[in-house]
Amino acid sequence: MQIKFLKSIVEHLINKPAVLIVDLLAGKKDVNEFLIAKKLDLTINQTRNILYKLSDYGLVSFIRKKDKRKGWYIYFWTLNIYQSLNLFKNKMNEELNQAKNQLKSREEKRYYLCKICSIEVTEEIALLNDFTCPECEEIYELSNNQGFIDSLNKTINRLEKEIQLINIELEIEEERINKKKAKKIKVAETEKKDKRKKNREKNIEIKKKLAKKEGKKKASKKTIKKKSSKKEGKKKASKKTIKKKIFKKAVKKKVSKLFDKLKKKKKK
Ligand SMILES: [Zn+2]
Repeated sequence: MQIKFLKSIVEHLINKPAVLIVDLLAGKKDVNEFLIAKKLDLTINQTRNILYKLSDYGLVSFIRKKDKRKGWYIYFWTLNIYQSLNLFKNKMNEELNQAKNQLKSREEKRYYLCKICSIEVTEEIALLNDFTCPECEEIYELSNNQGFIDSLNKTINRLEKEIQLINIELEIEEERINKKKAKKIKVAETEKKDKRKKNREKNIEIKKKLAKKEGKKKASKKTIKKKSSKKEGKKKASKKTIKKKIFKKAVKKKVSKLFDKLKKKKKK
């Protein structure tokens, strides 16, 4: 049923040959445009023109991918079933309103007809023309509205039934879309939960490791401190002894110099 409606809308908006596209896209996703062109026996540009028109109405959508070897973009097309049905419903509603307006005027107004020219006019125009056809000067006859009223009633019936059927299809499609959405949301939520759980576990693990390290550090810091304080002590001690040694050497030097001077003076 959906396919029938989709074909009707494509025929309505584009033309009869374009209807074949619906068969090629129905029930599929991301169909390569070159494949569509081949199946339709059209050039790629002719095919794209039809698809672009359909996409202007929102009946199809595309994704494009770059062909790595050739360097150009290839379009992949998908039928928008819900939008197409909705658009079709709007069209049918428009037609229905027109038919209802026509019915109303046929029921309320009088029309006049020139049988020779097959031209029908409203009562106002007939009055203006003195009930005589300006083309052939034949006198107007009152139109038989009943024929119009019967056929308009049939049209209205048909359109109302069709709109009902489209509404059923729209509901089905809506349900399908909602289920899909709900599924997506559920998947996303479970993914989020899993992620949070993993993060929590990771954090706990990290905290544990940190705590262990802290413990070790504290312990090792103490030993380091102890070791270093010992070293410091040794260092300080050794510095002192070195200073002492240097001092002693210096004193010795000075004393020996003084002795030398004294010796020289004695010689003199
Ligand atoms: Zn006439």
